[in-house]
Amino acid sequence: MSKHITHWIGGRPVATAGAAPRRGDIFDPATGQVTGHVDFADVAAVDQAVAAAASAFTEWRTASIAKRTTVLFAFRELLNARKDELASIIVAEHGKVHSDALGEIARGLDVVEYACGIPQLLKGGFTEQASTGIDVYSIRQPLGPVAIISPFNFPAMVPMWFFPIAVAAGNTVVLKPSEKDPSAANFLAELWKEAGLPDGVFNVVHGDKVAVDRLLEHPDIKSVSFVGSTPIARYVYETGTRYGKRVQALGGAKNHMLVLPDADLDLSADAAVNAGFGAAGERCMAVSVLVAVDPIGDELVEKIKQRIATLTVGPGCNGESEMGPLVTGQHRDKVTSYVESGLADGAELAVDGRKHEITAEDRNGSPTADGFWLGPTLFDHVKPGMSVYNDEIFGPVLSVVRVDSYEEGLALINANPYGNGTAIFTNDGGAARRFQYEVEVGMVGINVPIPVPVAYYSFGGWKASLFGDAHAYGQDGVQFFTRGKAVTQRWLDPSHGGINLGFPTNN
Ligand code: NAD
Repeated sequence: MSKHITHWIGGRPVATAGAAPRRGDIFDPATGQVTGHVDFADVAAVDQAVAAAASAFTEWRTASIAKRTTVLFAFRELLNARKDELASIIVAEHGKVHSDALGEIARGLDVVEYACGIPQLLKGGFTEQASTGIDVYSIRQPLGPVAIISPFNFPAMVPMWFFPIAVAAGNTVVLKPSEKDPSAANFLAELWKEAGLPDGVFNVVHGDKVAVDRLLEHPDIKSVSFVGSTPIARYVYETGTRYGKRVQALGGAKNHMLVLPDADLDLSADAAVNAGFGAAGERCMAVSVLVAVDPIGDELVEKIKQRIATLTVGPGCNGESEMGPLVTGQHRDKVTSYVESGLADGAELAVDGRKHEITAEDRNGSPTADGFWLGPTLFDHVKPGMSVYNDEIFGPVLSVVRVDSYEEGLALINANPYGNGTAIFTNDGGAARRFQYEVEVGMVGINVPIPVPVAYYSFGGWKASLFGDAHAYGQDGVQFFTRGKAVTQRWLDPSHGGINLGFPTNN
């Protein structure tokens, strides 16, 4: 049966009004079949969601921190209890394997748990007797209605990088998830309602650029948290700030993993395969470039090839699959085109993912022949300037670049326009420490291939991987979703009388 996904506004489903509303197809990437449709918001639908968020803000910011925390804890319990259901929703629209969907929910839950500590996180400072009889203190207050715009690759986790802290801090939310896998957002909205969140505090509008543009210009939206590709992140940052909003816009990536000659090559090969092909490479922290410091290149490539040959590629709902399909046919075709361009540019195709065996049926017995498949692909002897090196491919294509020294590898990484994540594999503590100091990338792994920081640090890249200065979640998240206010107080008595036009000093 075909599903119809509508917006979620004011605590209930709302369809786009009008005789012929715009809609998008929702696919099951494993079968290639259309499984439903999602409404695309017009300006009126976005305005309705923002109005709901603006009206709910008055009540929600007044709710005590204790009350807000109670709702957060209830949401945490519900999400934990129903994570399998949510994972199945993600698998059916994104295509990733079930265990991976559970993994993204777990990382989102971490942020929910962090936000449960909002009483501690919102505490300000207090200075008694800053001047005679005068105390100074700081408070942090919510912004108002905030917008979150998220990508297809983590339909649950990326929104949860932002909304738990936003809601806990007293803001109200309008979430615009990716139109490619929209159902997770509505599931989360229903959980919020069940957890006792007042209607209108958490709203979802679906759609495309029309919805995004309206959120960027809407006078009642106070901040924008965006995650997606670099060109759109730049556009969102420039447009949102032009309208006077606080904006954090996380963009694309080209993550390099540097392997020094002293590294354990078996562990390095395991890590490269896991980080290169997990979620079919559709992770912003996926390793897409392996920088091998020779003489280990040949041996490392051989070990990676052996591991790729054992990978089971098939539907995400099949418990045996290790890698699923790509999200859409269009994206699969784009990623596959890089196999051709890599060859044309002179890279060596060490493993051709177009020939990888695909598990034939999904768990429901549906045929998978029309799914959006591309198997794990490995290019060796890749060089800067080739499109497989320069572009963010966002698929299961791993490029190996050979270098002669640590210095050459570091220079390559630092010259790259992106700076999201990177990793070094070595048993030399001095080299690792030097790398951590010298590399110009926001998130660094030392023998850890996907160094996504835990919830009480903050997530964010450098350079073209992030526009704005606030990273996601952790302390940065609390800062982003609140405004600071400094109060200077004195309780008057007759000794404070008299005229003095001088500038106040501390005495
Ligand atoms: P995308 O940029 O195509 O879309 C992201 C969001 O922007 C979606 O909600 C989409 O509807 C909207 N959008 C698309 N085109 C738009 C336009 N012209 N104007 C306004 N809004 C528009 O990204 P995607 O394909 O959904 O996700 C993959 C990208 O996201 C990759 O580049 C990946 O690296 C990046 N990503 C980055 C991080 C990070 O933390 N830096 C995390 C996850 C994904």
